[in-house]
Amino acid sequence: MRTSEIAKRYLDYFAAHDHLVVPSASLISPNPTTLFTIAGMVPFIPYLMGEQTAPHPRMASNQKCVRTLDIDEVGKTTRHGTFFQMLGNFSFGDYFKEEAIHYAYELLTTPQDKGGYGFDPEKLWMTTFTDDEEARSLWKNEGVDPEHIQIMGMEDNFWTTGGPGPGGPCSEIYVDRGPEFGVEGGPIADENRYIEIWDLVFENYEVDNVKSKTDLHIVGELENKNIDTGAGLERLAYLMQGKNNIYETDEVYPVIEAAERLSGHKYGENEAFDVKFRVVADHVRSALMIMSDGVRPSNTGRGYVLRRLLRRTVKAMRALGVQEAVMPTLFPTSKAAMEASYPELNKTFHDVSEAAYGEEDAFLRTLEAGTEIFDMAVSKAKESGKDTVSGADAFKLHDTYGFPIELTLEMAEEQGVKVDENKFRELMAEQKSRARADALKKRHNVDLSVYDDFKKTLAKPIDFLGYTDFSARAT
Ligand code: ATP
Repeated sequence: MRTSEIAKRYLDYFAAHDHLVVPSASLISPNPTTLFTIAGMVPFIPYLMGEQTAPHPRMASNQKCVRTLDIDEVGKTTRHGTFFQMLGNFSFGDYFKEEAIHYAYELLTTPQDKGGYGFDPEKLWMTTFTDDEEARSLWKNEGVDPEHIQIMGMEDNFWTTGGPGPGGPCSEIYVDRGPEFGVEGGPIADENRYIEIWDLVFENYEVDNVKSKTDLHIVGELENKNIDTGAGLERLAYLMQGKNNIYETDEVYPVIEAAERLSGHKYGENEAFDVKFRVVADHVRSALMIMSDGVRPSNTGRGYVLRRLLRRTVKAMRALGVQEAVMPTLFPTSKAAMEASYPELNKTFHDVSEAAYGEEDAFLRTLEAGTEIFDMAVSKAKESGKDTVSGADAFKLHDTYGFPIELTLEMAEEQGVKVDENKFRELMAEQKSRARADALKKRHNVDLSVYDDFKKTLAKPIDFLGYTDFSARAT
């Protein structure tokens, strides 16, 4: 089943259960404290917090998300993307735990030819919050094997906003991939074998004193209890498509194939290369989706996240042996894989792709200028046994070859060496104060000849005729 069909089934199921289905909000978070929309619930926060009345008490969506927190996991785990889609059903003071559990279980276990996802109930596992006996008995009523219902504490299975306000226990649903993927014992024992696919949050408490999750105070029950759920579309897709990870699903894999053609290497040949292939496929898609929502590369905020995604793609492709520009091949491939779900990509693709190609060209020029010097600096550091690139070398890379310090830091980390950042900053500060002093000197040394000429014309004393001869004023 294609990813777009899995999303459609979810939204159709909840629409049939009286949910108002709304399109995904932008990836640019409306919340000023986060750069990107990180979860399906973000656009619904005003309704969940009771600040606004929802247009309908039950809603559902397939929300585009970006999580940069997971960037180091990308390509290494089977289940983390920087861009992913979170399916969600929400109840604002309407249905609660019993229906939320029933809906999730029914959709997951109904056979595919009857409109569901057709998961084998034997492969489903649940975690529940320590005190949430009710959730455990509701899962059992659905027919879940009691051995497959595990208990977790505050840290894992209690949700809060991070401050005073609504909070409540959650229950997570996992799929067992089988003994070849890890040890037995449920998600508590192994999160790589048992893959989390869906998180159900039951917001029924008001909490304060949320200093830490293990030290919060439950004030009482909320009058309006909410349901907030999030299911990872790519995780559902990879499990339902019988793939090994989210990067091999239909909306992502074509970029791996394009990278194979560009590099001449085969995916599956060697694990180190495979990680690079997966990073490329993930990052190209994220960059495409972020740019389509209006972000452009820059040195701050969202633009910087985007710049890093594009640069990391270029570097991963270089590690696969490709020195030439790759975006003109990879960007259209990713767009073609995503456009069935997001036809609007076509509207902006011309501008988006031009900006991506321009960014890659600029980065390739930077790399061309500085990579050799960088490699020499690393060898020097290694030879001296210090494993630290000197501040002077980092400064030279910046000053002469246009290598931003972030790039030097990233490349050094890849090579397992450090950079003397303190010395680098000291040299930068010295350069700044030198430049300031030069500017000041220039101001004091301005060409004063024009004043000299003026003085010469004034050398002849002027007779004061003001009170008697008005024509003198005009000369
Ligand atoms: P994990 O512990 O596996 O990183 P999580 O607890 O951070 O997941 P939630 O915040 O509960 O996940 O998000 C809800 C659902 O969204 C998860 O059950 C999962 O299916 C999906 N999801 C979360 N993060 C990612 C990601 N980086 N890539 C793909 N899917 C994700």
